[in-house]
Amino acid sequence: MAIRRAGRRQPNGTRSVSGKALAAGHPRKNVDLDSPEASAIPLRADAAPLAFVSWLGFVSAIGGEQNTPREFASEIESLNRSPRMTSRAATEWRYEKLTWPEINEAIEMRKVCIIPCGAVEQHGPHLPLDVDLMCPGGIARGVGEAMRDKVLVLPHIAYGYTGHVMDFPGTINTHWETFIKQVLDVTKSLAYHGFKKIILLNGHGSNMPNLDLAARRTNLETDAECVLIAWWNLLTVDKTFLPSWRESKFPGGCSHACELETSLYLYLDEDGVRKDKIKSGTIKMNDEDNPFNWVDLFGVGPGALISWTSSYNDTGVLGDAEKATKEKGERVFQESVKQLGRFIDYYRDRPIDVRGRHQSYKPKMPIPWGQYDALP
Ligand SMILES: [Zn+2]
Repeated sequence: MAIRRAGRRQPNGTRSVSGKALAAGHPRKNVDLDSPEASAIPLRADAAPLAFVSWLGFVSAIGGEQNTPREFASEIESLNRSPRMTSRAATEWRYEKLTWPEINEAIEMRKVCIIPCGAVEQHGPHLPLDVDLMCPGGIARGVGEAMRDKVLVLPHIAYGYTGHVMDFPGTINTHWETFIKQVLDVTKSLAYHGFKKIILLNGHGSNMPNLDLAARRTNLETDAECVLIAWWNLLTVDKTFLPSWRESKFPGGCSHACELETSLYLYLDEDGVRKDKIKSGTIKMNDEDNPFNWVDLFGVGPGALISWTSSYNDTGVLGDAEKATKEKGERVFQESVKQLGRFIDYYRDRPIDVRGRHQSYKPKMPIPWGQYDALP
């Protein structure tokens, strides 16, 4: 393997040695990379194990061959964009595993914060109560491990809005107002520290209206940006994915503890699925075959009557769980991780949107409702 020497090209044709060389105990200095002095720079793994792991990953990711000057320059640029390759902030994707100085570095690195939001809620006789934690948490972990230098995953918002499911034992409800306030407390804390890009990665359908409001309010009440993504909607980005994956009928086959959730859970934790108890369930309103009143994870009728779950279902399984397989779950996991990664690459580099005031006079009072007003 050819190991290259890192350094930012200086106007005089030398490179300032940074990253790996600094990690190995070298002060920043300008070195001509073709000089004997540069060749003598020891690349010591023992000096900075974490940096070396990153470096090895970096080298192997780009092929391990000597590359052209242009490729070299762009690789060095991307290396230098990560301010401290020795820091855990460059390799740790779990927010709560960092220290406070490393959080400052993660902010400098423009890391995107992912907050998995779920629920502890019944999912029929065959799935545990933690489905809506496992699914977004598993996808967030997949992205975190694949994009360690760009992402931080926070601990879950674990208790969701499930008041309509309280007829089934085990379900824990959080008052909608408490729920929105808790999410806002987290997003505002992140914004206060300096994070600018936040994703609410939701795993529980009935959290959606509340999380939509939490995301909107984060955008209006802080200087950070916040986006809400339901993990299952990541499967709609590639228009060919669902038609090649889904076997259950639309609408209704994918709703709750269904073909989709059961498949992903089988992939994430097969032992947790009570396979002998998998049985598909119907949704009474869908059975009416009315063009207005129907539900599915991938669409909802224009007049859907969403009320107590026990009023339109008896077992807690809404959908075609019998069509679930572990292999289909693996496809779902890989597709979700891939599409979320694509979104993060776009979102992280996208400049923050800028407001413009259209009043012909400057308002005399501060903007109400706790909204953030940075306009002059
Ligand atoms: Zn669920």
